[in-house]
Amino acid sequence: MSANPPLLEVRDLVVRYGEVTAVDHVSFTLDAGETLALNGPSGCGKSSTVTAVLQLRRPDSGEVRFEGQELTKLTERELRPLRPRMQPVFQDPYGSLSPRRRIRDAVAEALRVQGRWDATGPARVAGLLDRVGLAPAYGDRFPHELSGGQCQRAGIARALASDPRLLVLDEPVSALDPSVRAGVLNLLADLQDELGLAYLFICHDRAVVSHFADRSIEMRSGRLTSA
Ligand code: ADP
Ligand code: MG
Repeated sequence: MSANPPLLEVRDLVVRYGEVTAVDHVSFTLDAGETLALNGPSGCGKSSTVTAVLQLRRPDSGEVRFEGQELTKLTERELRPLRPRMQPVFQDPYGSLSPRRRIRDAVAEALRVQGRWDATGPARVAGLLDRVGLAPAYGDRFPHELSGGQCQRAGIARALASDPRLLVLDEPVSALDPSVRAGVLNLLADLQDELGLAYLFICHDRAVVSHFADRSIEMRSGRLTSA
């Protein structure tokens, strides 16, 4: 146990869809720079958990403490400055980028939204694309002009633009061609080493989890089976 408080502390999280309790009093913590894998069969509540952690859908009850702040009690406006600090990367690489926006503009927009756009903006966008292994020419493309792996890299570049402390990775390589998965996972591992990012990482592949995660927790039918 580290002396510092955890980066993320989830306590008794509950998410309901009508009569269905998708997340049933789930609690866990995540330290800065750590990778926690969240495993479990399809439909057990993994995506519902991380969606509620990110406050993309408010949980029905429970607490989500991030960087010392209890998010569930904050208004949308109060959350706005915190949102860049916790960025999602979803399974569908195309679904998380606007189909009408060039990759360069999608990354630039992430800087703009936070008021971090200035004369250095274009160079920073180029640097972010380079950092995820995309040559400058890819900046001119639209998402549908990229492969799944390239598109996921672009999504990671956009997430990094907001200088996050936590990436929430919901099956980030499951939709990708097996031949490009290792490259994206290696990129994520390198970024974590360099930037000290924490990862909450949903993944089905046990080999990947044991290689990639510091710790793992398991869900069944909305509950954790180990803590
Ligand atoms: P996982 O990510 O582990 O596959 P989900 O969190 O997506 O699981 O789903 C957990 C349960 O909640 C499932 O029974 C699923 O059908 C249900 N569920 C998920 N999203 C919704 C929704 N928007 N409306 C109603 N039920 C949902
Ligand atoms: Mg899911």
